[in-house]
Formats: sequence, C-alpha cells, structure tokens
Amino acid sequence: MPETTEKTMKQYCSVCKKQFEMKIIKQGGDESVVWLKCPGCKGFLPFIPEEEVEDQEVREAQSGAELALEDLDIENSKEYSDKLEFEIGEVIHHRSWNDYGKVIAKDLLPGNRKTIWVQFLRQGKVQLLEGVK
Ligand SMILES: [Zn+2]
Repeated sequence: MPETTEKTMKQYCSVCKKQFEMKIIKQGGDESVVWLKCPGCKGFLPFIPEEEVEDQEVREAQSGAELALEDLDIENSKEYSDKLEFEIGEVIHHRSWNDYGKVIAKDLLPGNRKTIWVQFLRQGKVQLLEGVK
C-alpha cells in the first residue's frame, strides 16, 4: 500500500473532471515524480510541477473559459502587436507563442496604458498591451 502524507496539493483530475485538494503520496526512490491520490476516484496521478508555477487566479479563470480551435475564426485572425489596438471578440495570433486567442476584455492600467485580456488556446488567459506608442 502506498503511504499517504498529511500534505495536500490542488490538482485537476481528468477522470473526475474536477479539481481536488489531493493527498501527497510519500515519495519512493524516484525523486522526480510526486504522486497524488484523488479523493474522487481514489486513483493515483502524477503531480505535474509546471502547473503549479502558474498563478492560482489565472488557473481558475482558465478553467471557466475553455476555448477550442474550432471556436476561432483563425482565417481572419490579426497578428498581435502591442502597437495595434483590438476589439473585444477579435481573433488574434501571437507569433512568438504560435498561439491563437480571442480578445475577451479590455483594461486600463495606471499611467493610461491600454491592455487587452486574451483567452489563448494554449497559454490560457493572458493580459497584453495594446496601442503602445
Ligand atoms: Zn479522480
């Protein structure tokens, strides 16, 4: 029987399609993998460290607004540049990430800097500058 510890970590279970506070299984000899136990399906799943790096707030926002490639009119996408300005609903392509996204909101930062919130297919929700002079 694998030993569970009292420490928990939040992780998404693809079986239960839900995020749980999961108990960390005591690590064995292989230090590179941490195993978590899902309280929903009682299954074991490896903890993926890259997800933990993400900001919690961003992750929660992402889970609410999933985007599929077919939802985007990529034929009419606009190449992102911070010099340009965008409208809500516009589809943009971010060249350095090679990722498509949709403008979901606009925001103003202190100093009157204009920004857009974009829901990207792979990057998730990202705030980008627009209309930089
Ligand atoms: Zn589960």
